[in-house]
Amino acid sequence: MSDFTMTIDGQSVAGDSGLGVVNPSTGSVFTEAPNCSPAQLDSAMAAAEAAFGTWRLDEDTRREALVACANALAEHAPELGEVLCREQGKPLPKAIGEIMGASFWFRHTATLEIPVEVLQDNDDGRVEVRRRPFGVVGAITPWNFPIMLATWKIAPALLTGNTMVLKPSPYTPLSTLKLGETLREVLPPGVFNVVSGGDELGAWITTHPTVRKISFTGSIATGKRVAAAAAPDLKRVTLELGGNDAAIVLDDVQPEAIAEKLFWGAFENSGQICSAIKRVYAPRDRYRQLVDQLAEIARSVSMGDGFAAGVQLGPINNRPQFERVCELVEDAKRQGATMAAGGNAREGDGFFFAPTIVADIADGTRLVDEEQFGPVLPIIAYDRVEDAIASANGTHFGLSGSVWSHDLERATEIGSQLECGTAWINQHLAFLPNAPFGGAKWSGIGVENGHWGLTSFTELQTINATKLA
Ligand code: NAD
Repeated sequence: MSDFTMTIDGQSVAGDSGLGVVNPSTGSVFTEAPNCSPAQLDSAMAAAEAAFGTWRLDEDTRREALVACANALAEHAPELGEVLCREQGKPLPKAIGEIMGASFWFRHTATLEIPVEVLQDNDDGRVEVRRRPFGVVGAITPWNFPIMLATWKIAPALLTGNTMVLKPSPYTPLSTLKLGETLREVLPPGVFNVVSGGDELGAWITTHPTVRKISFTGSIATGKRVAAAAAPDLKRVTLELGGNDAAIVLDDVQPEAIAEKLFWGAFENSGQICSAIKRVYAPRDRYRQLVDQLAEIARSVSMGDGFAAGVQLGPINNRPQFERVCELVEDAKRQGATMAAGGNAREGDGFFFAPTIVADIADGTRLVDEEQFGPVLPIIAYDRVEDAIASANGTHFGLSGSVWSHDLERATEIGSQLECGTAWINQHLAFLPNAPFGGAKWSGIGVENGHWGLTSFTELQTINATKLA
């Protein structure tokens, strides 16, 4: 039996069957995760529902529990980081950093107020608007940042008095199962349950009658299925979906001043970030220089097994995603694009694709129009900045974007024209625990983080009280 168990009602629960987990650096299965049965999911839901009755009552206890979660994560960061590195592929220091980041997020969320607004308080009566928890939240996460993205759900959901059943991606279930094991020590039974299984388990969660809210992070295609599945029960949904972020470089910037930051805005986590830069629009007269600078950086970074010292980029996480990146690059080549750096999968085991800078490419090519979610960046030349803005906005995506210029006022004005949830200026991937993050258009519904994310795990209740004569 594998070392990894589910957490149901505070207990360690093995699966009736197992699900192979692949190390993306070797391409081989190295262990199994439990495959949750429908009956086991029912017991997780029943446990969460039973725990809700008490958990919702005492805000101070919940606040203290979140701090205890933060401490537990910090204490167990090295071993959790190792599990994450092995199943996800990211470099070990980054994996440990993700756990520490999650610990910080728990600690920050514990400081947030659950607002009560008083509309009237006089001899005629008192009218308050309060925030009530929903009950059981079903949470579903992807494979790129399993612990951080789960934390964006767990911390606010639990603080506001909900309980949770969380399902990680079948590609990266292990770190989340370990998270469940770690938090078993500090949370009452049933408050936080972790189950693992294939995509069908996600579908069972979205249709389960006990669930009152679904918090989902993943692809647009699955997000639409989740929304449809939630509709018959009018379950509330927050959907954090895919992006195709554009970075627009303005004509006053020297490429060498921004190349390094642009590169990491695109290639962090080997490009597997919803809001990574996925296309760059550069003024034609600075185009070659920028392409050359980015290509030089791409050739200089070290890619390899996340456990090897000094590695900056790991593999693509899984075979379907790896094949998709290969396919998009081959298509770009057929359309006449130039590979300024990389352009091929690496020989040998694992899902490694060389950091790739693609030039001489335009809108209308799949690599530009679709979300590549891998270590490949197309650079597109523009003549008029209006055209670059129109290209950035000319898709169904709307997660984030960035504008790069010494002229902050002009860049901010252009940023405000981008149809997306976050517009960064001279940076990208700058997440804040106190700012809302979410997508416009097909990139999502609702937001996470800050008091906006917190209150999305609540519904409003007006209490309108008056005295009897
Ligand atoms: P995915 O949609 O394939 O899977 C996400 C999760 O949904 C997994 O746990 C999966 O098992 C589950 N799932 C699959 N089918 C389901 C169904 N029918 N019902 C319910 N759950 C189901 O996405 P992925 O490949 O794991 O993740 C990559 C995608 O996630 C990219 O598009 C990326 O941009 C996006 N993403 C978005 C954000 C954000 O905050 N906006 C963050 C990270 C990743």
